[in-house]
Amino acid sequence: MAKEELECSFCGRKKPETSLLIAGLDAHICDRCIEQAHGIVLEEAKDTNKKGLNSDLTLKKPKEIKEFLDEYIIGQDFTKKVMAVAVYNHYKRLLQPESDDDIEIQKSNIVMVGQTGTGKTLMAKTIARMLNVPLAIVDATVLTEAGYVGEDVESILTRLLQAADYNLEKAERGIVFIDEIDKIARKGDNPSITRDVSGEGVQQALLKLLEGTVVNVPPKGGRKHPDQKFIEVNTEHILFIAGGAFDGIDRVISKRLNMQAVGFSASKSDDVIERDNLLKYIIPKDLKDFGLIPEIIGRLPVLTHMDPLDAATLRAILTEPKNAIIKQYEKLFHMDDIEFEITTDALNYIVEKAIEYKLGARGLRSLCEAIFTDAMFDLPSSDISSFKVDKEYAEFKLEKSTIKKLKAVS
Ligand code: ADP
Repeated sequence: MAKEELECSFCGRKKPETSLLIAGLDAHICDRCIEQAHGIVLEEAKDTNKKGLNSDLTLKKPKEIKEFLDEYIIGQDFTKKVMAVAVYNHYKRLLQPESDDDIEIQKSNIVMVGQTGTGKTLMAKTIARMLNVPLAIVDATVLTEAGYVGEDVESILTRLLQAADYNLEKAERGIVFIDEIDKIARKGDNPSITRDVSGEGVQQALLKLLEGTVVNVPPKGGRKHPDQKFIEVNTEHILFIAGGAFDGIDRVISKRLNMQAVGFSASKSDDVIERDNLLKYIIPKDLKDFGLIPEIIGRLPVLTHMDPLDAATLRAILTEPKNAIIKQYEKLFHMDDIEFEITTDALNYIVEKAIEYKLGARGLRSLCEAIFTDAMFDLPSSDISSFKVDKEYAEFKLEKSTIKKLKAVS
């Protein structure tokens, strides 16, 4: 065959009509057909990916979700139950086939109220781990209204994209945990004369994200990369979980409870047990009185609270969860062929100190570090093959450690 007569075996274009003609065994393909085929391959991959995502998302029943949470989180039964139902409904909404009725299942965004260190972040992390979806944890305190110093609310979605390795479909089914949502409460009841750029303004900006909309997201975030192309992210199927300590909200609750208990003397209804865990009586109106705007509250329809951690819970947190702190140390020592043992007295002592220093569950880890660091430094280069920690050893190490200084600031 003469050279000029070569043609693309797919579209029939003659060689001169193409920019490139690639030869195969018995056929040729032109540049245009290659591009077209490439497009088809990409589309196909996207579809499979989507199907894959749906099948990845094994929708567990609420009871199974709670059982999963139980493996990692101690106590907090009320929140676990509420979360299990909310997450179940959220993903049911997401997996539902196109329906012809007019019943639209609304989003089950969640707000968790509880002191710091009670496991709010852990709850969001565990849910994301169970569902195998990306999770972005963002701090509401860094958010400001667009155009002001700080981060725009869109940066939340940049984080989610990053957590999903820029896989848009995955990101659009992810979870966003907004920590310290209480810090963007409106300050005071009177709308301030100066603009409240990190309070109500941010709440307004968050609204559209929470309810579900398409947002132009700078993939690398912020204003440092002004020429980047935007990615369109649809937030309709993203589950938002907000958390906050809402310091002082107990006063709001207590005031409301007292007002409700007409004819009841304040001292009577305010007894110790109730005052210990006033959060459990929280209702959406309390969030409004605290300074969240009603629209935000409406878009976080699932409200739940975290119980304060008592000694028994702290003790259980040390050893019981699947990746309990003590289990982690055991593993670390074991990797150096060192058998690690800690006595019950020593564990109780750590709990006692965590309570005394008001460090909550977060403090358990710092206390353990203070006690075990010397051993973790020395033992790997020694012949010692077992390490037993008793109360005296723990006391001795803690006495020397700087963690004691924390006591002063707590
Ligand atoms: P929060 O977000 O409420 O401030 P975190 O979830 O960050 O608290 O909790 C701090 C640490 O304390 C976590 O790393 C976790 O190990 C531990 N923790 C807190 N509460 C619990 C709990 N109920 N069960 C198990 N671990 C917990």
